Amino acid sequence: MKIVKSKVYVSENRLVNRLEALYENVPSGTCAGCTRCCSESVNMSYVEFLNIHEHYIGDGSIMDHPDFVNRLIRYYLLELVQPMKCPFLNADNLCDIYMYRPLPCRIFGNTTKAAYESNYKEIKIQNVKVAYQLLQESNLKMPKNVVQKEIGFCEDYIVDERLDRNEVQSMYDALVNMDGELAFKGFLKPTEFNQNLVGWFIEALLDEIDPKVLLRTMLSDLRLEALKAANLG
Ligand code: SF4
Ligand code: SF4
Repeated sequence: MKIVKSKVYVSENRLVNRLEALYENVPSGTCAGCTRCCSESVNMSYVEFLNIHEHYIGDGSIMDHPDFVNRLIRYYLLELVQPMKCPFLNADNLCDIYMYRPLPCRIFGNTTKAAYESNYKEIKIQNVKVAYQLLQESNLKMPKNVVQKEIGFCEDYIVDERLDRNEVQSMYDALVNMDGELAFKGFLKPTEFNQNLVGWFIEALLDEIDPKVLLRTMLSDLRLEALKAANLG
């Protein structure tokens, strides 16, 4: 990824304004703040990742946010083993990037049940595919509570008007168009489209830091997990 150059292009070509205009189309409502929907690494477009990176990291380093890095690496290491919370959810149960959160977080609770379930079906199919692939290639079973994890439709978000399937689809299409523009300019490879939040930030972390430092952090995390597992018996 060419994050710095991509961010310059996004700013100079007003992609951020297009993104903000898109977000403004999401009807606002009242959220109970239960954080149930913050239980996965949502898919998001490259332009949304760049927007979050610009506001959260800016010209600094991801390593300037040690709590986030810790949660990010834990998520990456353990997502196949146990259900995880989004790494942007902080110790106070608040979203570190609430103002810049991506579209899936904005429309959660805001869509009709049919639109939600149609979209979530794809996520469930993807989980089953990953589990099947691991079983075939490595003879490893993913726990059922991870493969079958499902964040059900939110009944607690109060909103006057819900987005239907077509409205949701046209918002995602607009994001794909922006990413297409970035790919056309050479900032994004075809294989990099539509990653999830953890995927984008792990890539960014690998881009910016010495792999030895990262390996050391990961190994020390793994040692603690192994000790915890041993303690549980
Ligand atoms: S959108 Fe729904 S599930 Fe998510 S925090 Fe709000 S009330 Fe909870
Ligand atoms: S980015 Fe924020 S709103 Fe979205 S899932 Fe993570 S913590 Fe929740």
